[in-house]
Amino acid sequence: MTELHGDIDRDAPPRLHATLDTHYGSLEGRDLLEPLLTRVFPGRIALISSFGAESVVLLHMVAVIDRSTPVIFLNTGKLFGETLAYRESVVERFGLTDIRDIRPDPVDTARSDPAGDLWNRDTASCCRIRKVLPMKRALTGFSAWITGRKRFQSGGRASLGTFETEFERIKVNPLANWPVERISAYIDEHDLPKHPLVAQGYASIGCGPCTSPVGVEEEARSGRWRGEEKTECGIHFDDGKFVRGDASQREEG
Ligand code: SF4
Repeated sequence: MTELHGDIDRDAPPRLHATLDTHYGSLEGRDLLEPLLTRVFPGRIALISSFGAESVVLLHMVAVIDRSTPVIFLNTGKLFGETLAYRESVVERFGLTDIRDIRPDPVDTARSDPAGDLWNRDTASCCRIRKVLPMKRALTGFSAWITGRKRFQSGGRASLGTFETEFERIKVNPLANWPVERISAYIDEHDLPKHPLVAQGYASIGCGPCTSPVGVEEEARSGRWRGEEKTECGIHFDDGKFVRGDASQREEG
């Protein structure tokens, strides 16, 4: 395998996406993250983490490779208290040194959600001001970002690729092909701390008002926005269109 170095991210994202697929498309997990963090995008790649049910796997991998990797934590103002406490304990245990707490713009929330109940009337607008817009601002200056999305999570992610292009930068999904059993095995093997709500049946954990436990026969993300068609928060889409796979397609988040 030929290694990539230096300023390859000066290539336009679609072309860079194809180059990354060629050189690193067969890798996953820590084997993929190590060259991306240290040689391909040093200082120009961030991990996006919700500190949710399975986030600890990528947080651990990144911490082992480089504890100073930027970790973007999107605090919507609607998260479970358990998530905030879990975030503190994981950061301390792994020694992560560059956690960036991102909040919604107070101007946006004052104008569109002054009572804090927009989620109950218009989840798309709520996610837009509390997730999509803050995330776009947080990614300024980065060439690539890492997500923990996986194919098994729901039908909408069934064909998820390792690399995508979104918000005009590269998105990396190192665990795209990992089944839930492998996630669990990694957590057990490294004795990683579990989000306290997992034991209460929460298989995917987002904002409190929009997350519920799931049954044993349900998909992991079926507890998110239960009763709505909505399955993604918006940071994996752009302009309202779902974009998945290659750069010629458009995506929302
Ligand atoms: S998940 Fe729910 S509470 Fe959180 S930003 Fe989206 S609509 Fe609002």
